[in-house]
Amino acid sequence: MAYEVHVLYDGFSKMTENGMEANCSCTLIKGPKKIIVDTMTAWDKELIIEGLARHGVTCEEIDYVVCTHGHSDHIGNNNLFMNAKHIVGFSVSFKNTYFIHPFETGDLFEREEDIKDPHLWQHVAGSDEPGLQRQNRNRVLQLADWVVPGHGPKFQVTQKMKQDVEDILNNSDNQFHYI
Ligand SMILES: [Zn+2]
Repeated sequence: MAYEVHVLYDGFSKMTENGMEANCSCTLIKGPKKIIVDTMTAWDKELIIEGLARHGVTCEEIDYVVCTHGHSDHIGNNNLFMNAKHIVGFSVSFKNTYFIHPFETGDLFEREEDIKDPHLWQHVAGSDEPGLQRQNRNRVLQLADWVVPGHGPKFQVTQKMKQDVEDILNNSDNQFHYI
């Protein structure tokens, strides 16, 4: 079954004097089922409707809304998709019904640069579980050809990236034992 992946908007994040400015990447996965991944901030409704229209898709046709985690810039327009099952971080629901599922998600990758500079995902974006995230980043990079990070343009996975992330994993015992 063929699926197409269309990034509707590239996410971003940057530190400013007042804190942080950010919005998430918003992605349409189009095939036998139609899936939207992360729905931006509550102020981006028109952008999402327009982005879908560019690919001939309406909000009513979306089967699944996947929000990688519950931050406000990832869930802002979930209520555009009333026919979809909603998967938000750990919870999977349709109307009042919640399904039990062992999901663990988040901004696994903040943006491409965080492969060379782990400080970006660990401290600037912040990680609840750095050890687990480090392992899952490695696992995904070994499998994927392309990654759509939470807050940056999609990027192609290179052999060098696979190696870098693996090296970080193997060296992590020394690197992260601070007292
Ligand atoms: Zn995010």
